[in-house]
Amino acid sequence: MSAPNKSYDPVEVSALAPEEVERARDEALAAIAAAADLDELKQVRLAHAGDRSPLALANREIGALPPAARAEAGKRVGAARGAVAKALKARQAELEEERDRRVLVEETVDVTLPWDRAPRGARHPLTTIQERMADVFVSMGFEIAEGPEVEAGWFNFDALNFKPDHPARTMQDTFFVGSEDTDLVLRTHTSPVQVRALLERDLPVYVVVPGRTYRTDELDATHSPVFHQLEGLAVDEGLTMADLRGAIDAFVGGMFGEGLATRFRPSYFPFTEPSAEVDMQCFVCRGASVERGADPCRTCSSEGWIELGGCGMVNPRVLVACGVDPERYSGWAFGLGVERTLMFRHGVESMHDMVEGDVRFTLPFGMEI
Ligand SMILES: [Zn+2]
Repeated sequence: MSAPNKSYDPVEVSALAPEEVERARDEALAAIAAAADLDELKQVRLAHAGDRSPLALANREIGALPPAARAEAGKRVGAARGAVAKALKARQAELEEERDRRVLVEETVDVTLPWDRAPRGARHPLTTIQERMADVFVSMGFEIAEGPEVEAGWFNFDALNFKPDHPARTMQDTFFVGSEDTDLVLRTHTSPVQVRALLERDLPVYVVVPGRTYRTDELDATHSPVFHQLEGLAVDEGLTMADLRGAIDAFVGGMFGEGLATRFRPSYFPFTEPSAEVDMQCFVCRGASVERGADPCRTCSSEGWIELGGCGMVNPRVLVACGVDPERYSGWAFGLGVERTLMFRHGVESMHDMVEGDVRFTLPFGMEI
């Protein structure tokens, strides 16, 4: 006869009593049946079939029984655990099926619904006309140059021969970034990119600079604190005002049609010398509206000419500031207003239309993307 098993204690193994095993099994089955979704079932599995569940603990205690009692206890606990496992598996399958059915309904895509009701949108007419203007110069061999909109005062003014007491440097026209002492401004024109181009590129330089510029103007029919310019710069050996005139003529032909005259009127800019305002013949009436008794022309206000922008020969002081020898090189520059061009080319009457974002204004320009 073997020695009595000292670890056998009827109190400790009361979990193995038939009614206890049945109770644990029934509780497990009830919990499984009550699990409403897969998350709940996961918790039930942990509680009733996990390592710390009553049936698992009971199973662990079988070894402490006298050998004669083990077989029966093992059978009882095994049957209970089997029943629980089977119920878990069945409920799992049920709940998965339920979830799949629900997902199918909830995530249904109705492929017959219309998908293109929202308008696709298009680029703003200012953007497209700016590109079109630049393209005319690109076709002549110019490159596009760009520069920062927050600019150092030196680039925006000093290098362009704006004397320290020039009115454009006061708060009236210029947005300063931070205080006036920081010498950082929102560029008031695209001309600082002329300076950057000359400092960064090898000569000769032929660039056009489309870009956004800022001045402290109130928004009205013809002004906006944010507007766009197209700047052009050519610096090479032997350039004259005749080359400038030729480039402007080519631009007018490219944008408005062949055969339109241009004219220069004397003007003043700090960064060009001599300077000129450039006009083109009205592309609608071609000057005919000026004649007595002719139909009035809205595009040129019956003046026959349309103001295009400013231009001139690059001031030698600017060339020197950019490290270019003015004895050897000369250059010319021009600045065209993009908003102005859109206004007279397409009969846009107010700046408000361009900034208010109303698609009723932009739609007639087409859906060019
Ligand atoms: Zn006209």
